[in-house]
Amino acid sequence: MGDVTRCKRCILPDTYPDIQFDRNGVCNFCSGESSNKNAPKKSLGRQELDKIIRTHKGKSKKYDVIVGLSGGKDSSYVAYYLKKEYDVKILGLNYDVGYRSTYAIQNLEILADKLEIDLLTLRPNRAFLNKLFAHFLRNRGEFCSVCNNFGYLIGASLSWNQKLSLGFSPLMVGGWSKEYEFQHGVSVTSMQYFFENLTQELLEELMFQPFVEKEVVLRFMQLKDPRQAQIGTKEHKELGDYAMDFIQLPDYVEWDLREMPHILSEKLGWKHPPDVHESHFDCSLFPLKEYLKFKKYGLTQETIKNSVLIRQGLMTREEALERMSFEQTTEPEVLDAFLHELGITKNDIDWQAEWSRFA
Ligand SMILES: [Zn+2]
Repeated sequence: MGDVTRCKRCILPDTYPDIQFDRNGVCNFCSGESSNKNAPKKSLGRQELDKIIRTHKGKSKKYDVIVGLSGGKDSSYVAYYLKKEYDVKILGLNYDVGYRSTYAIQNLEILADKLEIDLLTLRPNRAFLNKLFAHFLRNRGEFCSVCNNFGYLIGASLSWNQKLSLGFSPLMVGGWSKEYEFQHGVSVTSMQYFFENLTQELLEELMFQPFVEKEVVLRFMQLKDPRQAQIGTKEHKELGDYAMDFIQLPDYVEWDLREMPHILSEKLGWKHPPDVHESHFDCSLFPLKEYLKFKKYGLTQETIKNSVLIRQGLMTREEALERMSFEQTTEPEVLDAFLHELGITKNDIDWQAEWSRFA
């Protein structure tokens, strides 16, 4: 770690793909030279959100909106905000791949009870999931693209089945909202990447999963990236009935990452583990995701996130450097158990494979 050069303003290292430093040592992400073309062009604002919700509220007898829920702070805040501000009928969708933390499960129960949400937890077939995880670890040295895409397709299939046309999350899979930076070059969220790396056999098996609609999969296979299904895009129109109006809430309302855990604790009794920062405790494989990213690219998602917070003036560079001691840069305990479950070894993992370059 000693020889890493970091941006003088944020903490991004020189190992981050496509990073460049100017003569003052400031990176192209800080100087704005590398602005993301998928970022929302304008601040969409609360009025726009009012309009969208008015259009959908009361349209269906059962639910007004579907919200993806993990029990983590961002998705919990989405549900809290929608209930408080709009009193909508929410169908909460929780995707369980067998690695939810006890904190996450407790938070889900709290949300369902206190906000009066119908909560649907879908747990895909274990053997099939393991096959997918093992396949991606062997071939690409990562496993998160499985949840990113399979989970997305399950959500899209469910909303299509329920005839629900409005969906919410803090961040669409592969998303870029004004509060979250798309992780250029180190992301495994693209659909094109996922489908290109699936074998024919795995694809067929995927389409036969009970929560998955084959037609929905075939439609979404035509997208490069789930972001293309976002409201107002050409692809959103082409998806026709298969598309829903998918809202990334941070694009529309104030999103104070540091305040949210306090608000949720105070209003709902929501909890996060005391010994870690409040990020991503919802999935117990998160430390492994971070470790794989660190091994390959010399940085973790926390480094990227905290760099964004510095740019927004919500964190000092000193604090971000201090918080790096929390980051998962050594082999996490969960690795051995996970590999054992999948029936593969560390030697089977492709540690060198580059991840998605679609952006
Ligand atoms: Zn920077």
